[in-house]
Amino acid sequence: MQTTLEKTLAKELAELRESGQYKQANELQRPQAPRTRMDGRDVVMLSSNNYLGLANHPEVVAAARRALDQYGLGTASVRFICGTMTCHLELERKICEFIGCEAATTYISCWDANVGVMPTLAPTPEDAIFSDALNHASIIDAIRLSKAQRFIYKHRDLAELRRMLESPEGRKARNKLIVTDGVFSMEGDVADLPALKELADQHDAVLIVDESHATGVLGKTGRGTAEHFGVQDPNTIQTSTLGKALGGSCGGYVAATRTVCDYLVQKSRPQLFSNALPPAVCYGAMAAIDVLMREPERLEKLRRNVAQFRAGVQELGLKTIEGITPICPVIVGETATAIQMQKALLAEGVFVSGFGYPVVPKGEARLRCQISAAHEPADIEFALAALKRVAEKFPQARGRA
Ligand SMILES: *Cc1c(COP(=O)(O)O)cnc(C)c1O
Repeated sequence: MQTTLEKTLAKELAELRESGQYKQANELQRPQAPRTRMDGRDVVMLSSNNYLGLANHPEVVAAARRALDQYGLGTASVRFICGTMTCHLELERKICEFIGCEAATTYISCWDANVGVMPTLAPTPEDAIFSDALNHASIIDAIRLSKAQRFIYKHRDLAELRRMLESPEGRKARNKLIVTDGVFSMEGDVADLPALKELADQHDAVLIVDESHATGVLGKTGRGTAEHFGVQDPNTIQTSTLGKALGGSCGGYVAATRTVCDYLVQKSRPQLFSNALPPAVCYGAMAAIDVLMREPERLEKLRRNVAQFRAGVQELGLKTIEGITPICPVIVGETATAIQMQKALLAEGVFVSGFGYPVVPKGEARLRCQISAAHEPADIEFALAALKRVAEKFPQARGRA
């Protein structure tokens, strides 16, 4: 007999298929790289977070292999029982050296880092969390796990944030957290960190910046949004991922003061009840940070590539969101259009992922193009030529945002 659950799920899946929203995973048959193989064809990859091309860097892979030999596959334990290996402490020191923070603590993902931070630092109804409406899903879910009062301000609307901070409830709150993405994952725009920092200081709030798309990307030496604006501050808490620019496997961290990190190690649930990072990931990420610190020219190449791609998109008259980051969305309107364009581009040898509602607002479905330092100018030309041919068939993608 079919259970009610089975029936409900089957019905919803059928609806997703009918409305063209059913996600089919494309099969990546080679390592993540600017040119790779997907679904049996060679493609230029225009949709990965491999911003510095380190996911398959020989030094990163060799370091991970060394960790496997030295420490085995895993800890078979959480950090505080018997899961803190030398490699975890080494990675945390390396993160401190890179970010320039007092302390760092790692999690199995940045998702977990966010879930570790928000409910732990603002646990009670006396506390308050102020969050940008377009923050990453992991921040949204992390806030749901906290009992703090919630204030969601419109995307980058700092006047609204100020009103919320100045409201009687905002003023009365005990621990106040202002949470933002550094680089927003679907827009590719950058949070106004100096203004946020000023608001935080004025209201005795602590700023938390999720640097997942900014680490290894923004700032002269890739240290992120704070470096980009020149507003590094020890009281700002950073969360970030090792799964994007820093090697692309998995893992996340919180970079903060010694007190905040100590507290998280004592109290945050993902750290207390979920396994430590695999040693191979620790050494792989450390090698990625070393390559980044040693070869700042990767960042220069990333910036040149981004400028080349963004100029090309403008020239094609496609609707985009202007900016400086490697995330360059092409807004096409309907979800079905985004999916059809994704397919047409794949047939042209370019993989770029289409996103529709509910990941982005209704009517703003998009192709999220992402540029890497590992692309060659010829790859970008190839991708732009394919975009041109496909966009000719989809006039919806034209016009200024
Ligand atoms: C990708 C991303 C995450 C999740 O990172 P994982 O380490 O894969 O869990 C969290 N926050 C933001 C802003 C992201 O872009």
